Amino acid sequence: MDKKTSEKKDFALQSPKGMRDLIGDEWYAYQGFFEKAAEVAHYYGFKPIEMPALEREELFNRGVGEGTDIVEKEMYTLKTKGGDHLTMRPEGTAPVMRAYLEHGMQSLPQPVMLYYYGPFFRHDNPQKGRYREFYQFGLEILGTPKPITDATIINLFSTILKDAGLKKINVKINSIGDADCRGPYRRELSNYYKKHSKDICADCRERLKTNPLRLLDCKNPGCQEIKAGAPESVGFLCPACKQHFKEVMEYLEKMGIDYEIDSTLVRGLDYYSRTVFEIFSETEITNEDGTKTISNLALGGGGRYDYLAKSLGGKKDVPAVGGGLGVDRIVESPDFAYHAPRIVKKPKVFFIQLSFDAKLKTFEVIEVLRKNHVPMTHSMSKDSLSTQLGIAERMGVPYTIILGQKEALENTVIVRDMETRSQDTVKIDKLCEYLKKLK
Ligand SMILES: [Zn+2]
Ligand SMILES: [Zn+2]
Repeated sequence: MDKKTSEKKDFALQSPKGMRDLIGDEWYAYQGFFEKAAEVAHYYGFKPIEMPALEREELFNRGVGEGTDIVEKEMYTLKTKGGDHLTMRPEGTAPVMRAYLEHGMQSLPQPVMLYYYGPFFRHDNPQKGRYREFYQFGLEILGTPKPITDATIINLFSTILKDAGLKKINVKINSIGDADCRGPYRRELSNYYKKHSKDICADCRERLKTNPLRLLDCKNPGCQEIKAGAPESVGFLCPACKQHFKEVMEYLEKMGIDYEIDSTLVRGLDYYSRTVFEIFSETEITNEDGTKTISNLALGGGGRYDYLAKSLGGKKDVPAVGGGLGVDRIVESPDFAYHAPRIVKKPKVFFIQLSFDAKLKTFEVIEVLRKNHVPMTHSMSKDSLSTQLGIAERMGVPYTIILGQKEALENTVIVRDMETRSQDTVKIDKLCEYLKKLK
C-alpha cells in the first residue's frame, strides 16, 4: 500500500474535527442533564418539539441574517442531488418559528411554549467546551409580548443550571429596543464609529456598513476602548420599550436572580428585539500549575425576537422570546452534578452464566428479569465463576444469579446473597417472585 492510501485510511478512522462520539458515562451525563431540564420545562407548561437536523438554507439567510458570522462563515450547507440547498441547523430559534408558522400554531391558545434538545452545527474553531457539533437545550415562548415571558425564560435557564450543580448563576441583560427606537440608536452608533473608523479593525469597518449594532460584538482587543465609549442602547429606548425592560428587571429581582445591565450586549443575530441576555456561572478552575482562577463561564443566552416571523415570510409579526443553553460547557464544568438518566438503574442482580448450555438459557433468564423490571447486569464473555463473582463484588451488586450446566438442564438458577453468601436454588419461572421477596 503506498503512503497516500494508508494516510487516507487512517483519516477515515477519525471523527471530523470538532465532532465526537458520546460514549458510556459521557452519554449518560448528557442524557441525564436533558431529562432533568425537560422535567423543569414540563412543570412550567412547555411541550417538546424535535425539528429536523437539516433545514432549507433560506430559513437561516432570512432568519439569522446575511452579514452575520453564522450565515457568512459558519454554516454547513449542502446541495442535494435534487438541487435543494440544505443547511445543518446552526441554531434552534428560526427552525422553531418555522414550525410554528408551518403548522398554524397561531390558532392554538397563546402563548405556545416549546422546548427542544439536540445537536447543532457551526463551522468555527473548536476549543475547550466548544465544538462544531454541539448540544443545545432550548426554550421558546411564542405568541406574546408580555415581559413576564422574558423573565420566565431567564428564570428557567437559571433553575436548570442550579439543578445541574452550577454555582453563582448571574445574568447579563440589555434592551436593544424595537423598530421605533432602534433606528435613531443605530444612527448615533454609526456616527460615533465613523469618527473612529481609522482606529477600528477591518471586520468592524465592514460591520459599520452592513450592521452597525454588531460593532458591539467585536472581541478584537484594539476595538475595546472605542467600544467602551460607544453610546448605549438603553439611552435611546422609546417609552414602551423602557417600560418593557423595567418590568423584566422587576420580575428578575422578585425571582432573586443576580443580573446586571451590559450595554455592549447585542448578540450577533439579526432577529433580536428588546430583551437580550446571556447567562453565566462562576466557577473555580484549577490551572495546569495547580493555581486556581475564578472564571465566569457563559452557558447560554437568548432574547426576544418579535420580528422574526415576518422576516421568515409570515404574514403577521409573532411576538416571541427564547434562547438556548450550551450543554457541552455545562457537562464539562467542574461543578456539574451528574444525574443518572432513567434507563440507568443501579443493578440489583449480577447474572453469571457458565457452560454452553447455560448460554442458551441466558436470554430466557434476561427476559424474565427485563419483563419484571429487575435492574441487572452481566458479563457475556467466558469468564470463570470466581472472576464473575469478583466483578459482582466490586460493583457492590446485592445478588448474583448463577446459571451452570446442571441448572440449565433443570430449568433452575442459583441465587446468591453477596453479603451473607447464602444461596438458594430457584426455578426460573419462580425467579421473579423469589427476587421480589428479597427486598
Ligand atoms: Zn473590531
Ligand atoms: Zn422602542
